[in-house]
Parts: sequence; C-alpha cells; structure tokens
Amino acid sequence: MQRTKISVLLRTEPTGTEVLVKGWVKAFRNNQFIALNDGSTANNIQIVVSENTDPELIKRIKFGAAIGVQGTLLESQGKGQRVEIAASNITIYGDVNLEEYPLQPKKQSLEFLREHAHLRFRTNTFAAVFRVRHALAFAIHQFFNERGFFYIHTPIITASDAEGAGEMFRVTTLDPKNPPLDEQGNVDYKQDFFGKTTNLTVSGQLEGELAATALGDIYTFGPTFRAENSNTTRHLAEFWMIEPEVAFADLNDNMNLAEDMLRYVITYALEHCADDLKILEERLLEEEKSKPQDQRSEMSLTEKLRFVTENNFERLTYTEAIDILKNSNPNKKGKFQYPIEGWGVDLQSEHERYLVEKHFKKPVILTNYPAAIKAFYMRLDEGAEPGKETVSAMDILFPGIGEIVGGSQREERYDVLLQKMQAMHIPEAELSWYLDTRRFGSCPHAGFGLGFERLILFVTGMTNIRDVIAFPRYPGSAEF
Ligand code: ATP
Ligand code: MN
Repeated sequence: MQRTKISVLLRTEPTGTEVLVKGWVKAFRNNQFIALNDGSTANNIQIVVSENTDPELIKRIKFGAAIGVQGTLLESQGKGQRVEIAASNITIYGDVNLEEYPLQPKKQSLEFLREHAHLRFRTNTFAAVFRVRHALAFAIHQFFNERGFFYIHTPIITASDAEGAGEMFRVTTLDPKNPPLDEQGNVDYKQDFFGKTTNLTVSGQLEGELAATALGDIYTFGPTFRAENSNTTRHLAEFWMIEPEVAFADLNDNMNLAEDMLRYVITYALEHCADDLKILEERLLEEEKSKPQDQRSEMSLTEKLRFVTENNFERLTYTEAIDILKNSNPNKKGKFQYPIEGWGVDLQSEHERYLVEKHFKKPVILTNYPAAIKAFYMRLDEGAEPGKETVSAMDILFPGIGEIVGGSQREERYDVLLQKMQAMHIPEAELSWYLDTRRFGSCPHAGFGLGFERLILFVTGMTNIRDVIAFPRYPGSAEF
C-alpha cells in the first residue's frame, strides 16, 4: 500500500478509506492514543490503537519511535482534531530506549539542543524553523523568477581576497607540516593545487557583476564564509547569502527591489507557514515572559511580520542618522558604549537598533555612507564637500537584528574605480577581470546582499542565528 503524508490526510474527508502513514511517535496516552508526526506538517495525526493489539508491541510504542500504521481514516470522536486513524496494523521501524534518548518528552533548552544538532529536527520548534526556512528559500527563487532574474552560481573557492580583509578561510592541499618553500623561505603557493593562494568566498558579488553586465538581472544564492571571530547572535562562520545584481539600476531602484523582495517573501511565509508560525509565535511569547516587562515586545511575531509587509521602510541618509543619534537621549546620557561624537564613524549595532526600535519603530534604510567606511566598489556620490565624500550605499536595518541587507550602486566609472582601488591598496592585477567590465561597455548597476539566516531570524522570531541553520559553524564549533 502507498504511504500518505500526514499533511495530506489532515486535509482529506474522513470517509472510511484505508490509509498507511509512517512517522515518529510524539505522544502515547492511555495505551490507546498515539500522536504521530511525519515532518510534513507541524500537526500530528491521532492514531487509535485497537484493544486487541499485542501487548508486547504496545510496550514498544514510545516517544520518538519510528512506526508505520495501517488503518481507516475516520471522523474523530475526540476534541482537537477533525480526523483520526483507527489502526488495524502497526509496524515498528525503530525502537527508542528512552533512558538513553537525549530528547525527553519534556522541553529542552535551545542551548542543550545546539549540542545535539543532529536531533534538533525532531523537536517541534526546529521542525517549524526548517520548514519556514524552506518556504523562504522557495519564495526568494519565485520572486526573482517572476521578475526575469537569472540564478547564477558563483564560485565557492576564489583566488581574490580583495573583499576578505583577512576574514577568509584558506583553501590548500599543501602539507602544513612540510610545505614547499620558495627561495626566500616563504611557503610556495605556486606549488599549491591551483598554483596560487585560494580561499572560501565571502561574497559572490564581484562575479555577479560580470553576469549582470551581460544578462541584465541576475542573483546568486549560495554559501559564504567568514573567518571573523565574532561570537555574536547574528554572525556565523558559514552562512547563505542572496545577492541580486541589476544592470542600469541606481540606488533608488536598488532600495525598491530590496524592499519589494523582503515584503514578498515575508508575505509568502505568512500565507504558507501559518501552522509553523503559530508554534514559533507561542515559543517567542514564552521566551518573552522571562524578560522584564519593559523589554518585552509590544507585538506578537505575526503582528511584527504583518507590520513589515504593510508599512514602507523609513529611508534616510547616514548624515541624517548621525544627527538623530547625536541628539538622542542615550547619547546625551552616555548610555551608548560607543558615543556618537561626529560625522564619519561607523555605526555600531546599538546605534542601528536605537534608530529602528526606539526612534522610527520600523525597518530603516540608511543611505550615502562615508566613502571611507565602505567597500571600494561603491559609487562615489557627486558634489560632496572635500573630506565628506559619500558613496551610494544602502543598509537595511531590522528590529531585533540590525543589518539584514547591505548594498550599493556600483562604481561604473573606470577611472574613479581605479583611483579608489589604489587609495585603498587593492591590487589592480588581481582584479583585472573585474575591471574589464568597466573597460568594455560599462553601465550603471546596483545590487545588494541579504543574509539568509538573518531573514530567517526575523521571520521565525528565534533569537540566536545558530538556531536557524541546521548545522551551525562558529568559532570553536564545526560538529556534525
Ligand atoms: P555586519 O556589520 O552585521 O557584520 P557586514 O557589513 O559585514 O554585516 P555585508 O558584508 O554587507 O555585512 O554582508 C551582507 C549581508 O550578509 C549582511 O547584511 C548580513 O545580513 C549578512 N551577514 C554578514 N556577515 C554575516 C555573518 N557572519 N553571519 C551571517 N550573516 C552575515
Ligand atoms: Mn561583518
């Protein structure tokens, strides 16, 4: 007999049809009622075990056991569910020794589960997170596909470290104990696998720009790696990034695209993940109860998501933001760890969160940052006072998270770009392939990077980025 997924059965009219389900036991009450889950939905199906079932088999129906059930799909007599299965035959696929199973039927802390990441999928919270993660990935592809963007796969191993600024993971096949040396006694990477030093990519943008300046509208969606030693709740050493790049677009087009995309995918999650969002909303409510009253969120998870889909983001320049921050209460009262004294400083997470959570109380897009604190490829704004040069950058800041998107209009003028690279000591020879886009048929273009896990953090209401990726990699941890 063909197995049916529980998600399908819960939508089926209970007309007494014979069905087969397979899944894991979530609960077993009174030696009679099994709550079975197969991962296809947040909801369980109720199995009614018949009285003449072998008592030896009943003993093996335990929390976590993998079983198959054949039976009749009936209208449920009990409360809380529409349908149930009257079991005629039960097969045990995998027993559980509850004394040894790290997942007890009781609640486990997120920290405990992080150490047992291979089992996290079995919990209601994480199953919900990963179903939402899937839905968001799917929605992102759908959004770009509907708008005629092409999905480009940029390399994971790269020889350029122009963007890395010392935060890259080296890729090598040389023997660390006995590497070949050159005449000066340095490691001779000419003898390495690729004949030069290579690293894991920190971004697919530069390669994406090559594609955009021929295919028009492209996006990448792949893993990126950063060896930054930041033990925060917002940084991973391995994370996924979505990077659209659009020919003939300016900063304004770029902001509109990012805002439309965020709204589209969050709406998609609200429409397609209602059951999972309910579980996550309850989890967040529970977590908030342990916080002091004044630190609790005024909105529930779905209210927050709806708020973002229904309101425009606040757009302002870096210069305007500095004015607001300089005159803010926390700055005047010395509450910021990094006080804002003047124009030119990089914004810290505390400043970003003040703007989003206290001042505007909605997502914020900051634009036109000082050139000195941004990457070399961002377009230099015209008409700035000397010493106050800005670039056409934009960062999108979200409540509870801070930066979720970083982007810019790119410097398409060959001479300006070259000058900027020289000033920032970026080796021209290494990026000649990139500079070629500016030498042959250069055009205005813009793009951004969205950190996929930061988006998932926002949509699921989880608080630590390590809890929205199946197998998190962070300083000191690459288990599983
Ligand atoms: P931050 O200041 O938060 O470290 P960034 O300025 O280094 O971010 P970008 O280089 O602009 O970030 O990368 C684009 C996006 O990738 C960011 O907006 C963010 O969403 C995400 N991102 C950056 N670093 C990480 C990381 N270590 N882990 C997870 N996501 C990240
Ligand atoms: Mn960073």
